[in-house]
Amino acid sequence: MPLGTYKEALSARATDSKITDVSQDGGIVSALLCYALDEGIIEGAVVAGTPDEDWRPIPTVVTSSDEVIAAAGTKYSMSPTLSALKEATRQYGLEKVGVVATPCQIQGLRKANAYPLTRFVTGKISLIIGIYCMENFPMASLDTFATAKLGFDSLQDASKMDIGKGKFWLTKDGEDSGLAIKETHGYEQAGCNICMDYVAEWADVSTGSVGSPDGWSTVLTRTDAGETVFKAAVDAGLIETKPMDEVKPGLGLLEKLAAGKKDKNGKERERRAKMGLPLPVEY
Ligand SMILES: Cc1cc2nc3c(=O)[nH]c(=O)nc-3n(C[C@H](O)[C@H](O)[C@H](O)COP(=O)(O)OP(=O)(O)OC[C@H]3O[C@@H](n4cnc5c(N)ncnc54)[C@H](O)[C@@H]3O)c2cc1C
Ligand code: SF4
Repeated sequence: MPLGTYKEALSARATDSKITDVSQDGGIVSALLCYALDEGIIEGAVVAGTPDEDWRPIPTVVTSSDEVIAAAGTKYSMSPTLSALKEATRQYGLEKVGVVATPCQIQGLRKANAYPLTRFVTGKISLIIGIYCMENFPMASLDTFATAKLGFDSLQDASKMDIGKGKFWLTKDGEDSGLAIKETHGYEQAGCNICMDYVAEWADVSTGSVGSPDGWSTVLTRTDAGETVFKAAVDAGLIETKPMDEVKPGLGLLEKLAAGKKDKNGKERERRAKMGLPLPVEY
């Protein structure tokens, strides 16, 4: 089961051009957050903003659709998202919180909810949207890709950052520059090499680009909460869908990449275990 437990897999995209003009893929994350805010399913959410416009993700509490849309798009560095949960529940006083997070952060969230000491914060989370994640880079690595490898004056010159079709892409003045993924190996966070979860298996709803055509997202609904909000957003006309077997490259590619990550990183875990190195998370 390389994709974990899920109810339904669909290809989907937001219908509002205010979202799709700025979103990374099909705008599913932003559309779901906007819908959940409008309907009172959540009162606010923790997302990854870039207040300094330098690609460094900063955990940000948002309470309106405009703020959700301002934080759209992927930043390929670690956003310490969970650190903002206390702010969301204490300073903002939110009782129903949405969170956008990577698979590892969601594992932490689910675990924190099992402990009485942290449950008073995590118990207020009403919607966890997981984003697929193969690896994540320190800001210094992203700077190196932009300047030393792609010849930009600065990472800040890039208007979009993406990974797809075997390359790490930066867009500048409407033009895409690609760096072969093998050139990025060794620059990722070390912990990503022992991570077994590609598709946010513990989220309420997971999404990423792999499996769907450009501009669309592949969505896996996993829990009752995830399924309910996704279906309601579709029924309200905020999201359009297609069956996965009608799109290319299809779910097979997502399964292949998820299984490949488990296989490769499982071997690295065995290698580190043999050397007596600690493995922080058990599988
Ligand atoms: C480090 C990383 C690696 C990824 N790798 C893959 C991959 O291998 N394959 C794949 O299909 N998809 C991958 N994704 C997910 C993909 O890039 C998109 O984020 C996802 O498809 C959602 O797109 P969207 O158009 O629905 O979201 P949008 O509507 O554009 O919204 C994106 C949301 O993600 C939040 N966000 C942005 N950066 C981060 C971050 N670093 N941490 C937490 N939240 C963030 C934003 O605040 C925003 O709420 C990765 C994402 C990250 C952050
Ligand atoms: S690869 Fe795993 S450990 Fe690394 S950021 Fe993504 S989910 Fe977290």
